[in-house]
Amino acid sequence: METFLEKLMDLLTRVSELYAIPQWAVNAGAVTIFCILVAFPFLVRHLLQPKYYRFRELILFKVLWRWKYKKDDVVGLWCYCPKCQAMLMVDDENCRSNESLQNKITYFICNECGGNELGRVVGGDRRYALSLVKREIWRHIKEGSFNEISSATKEALKIYQGIEASKEETTNSTTLHVKIDEPKTSEEEDVKKDGI
Ligand SMILES: [Zn+2]
Repeated sequence: METFLEKLMDLLTRVSELYAIPQWAVNAGAVTIFCILVAFPFLVRHLLQPKYYRFRELILFKVLWRWKYKKDDVVGLWCYCPKCQAMLMVDDENCRSNESLQNKITYFICNECGGNELGRVVGGDRRYALSLVKREIWRHIKEGSFNEISSATKEALKIYQGIEASKEETTNSTTLHVKIDEPKTSEEEDVKKDGI
């Protein structure tokens, strides 16, 4: 490695002397060329990526769906809580015992937000739900509406998290209120004691 660097520096010095260019300019040029060569494959890969690769989030059935792309396929599709971003639990146990499609329901549950149902899909199990979401993703890609959906999703998530933030604020103020109330009770007790 050292010998390579020595050879390189020697070459750069010779270039500098040969063309009467300042040494620093030759070195800077060499560094620039090196950076371009390293970055080039990444840049090409990025430019060749389909535009829809940026479309990786969608709100459907009241929950957030996220995925990635591998070549021309949607991979790693799963649902997340639009409020706290945690991975959701999917409950489709009832789909095995129920014969009627109307009774087959897949529930989306966030354990982080108290284990409540956030949304549901009627008509099938988790595989059915995932296939519906995939179909919706490809529909937006084919119709070219994925950019609008992406920005709409970002806005919706802000609102979801805004609601969550204001809820926390109210909880905090309630806690403060309770704390403010506490001394009063002891004062009252004191008054009672004094009375006795
Ligand atoms: Zn949650």
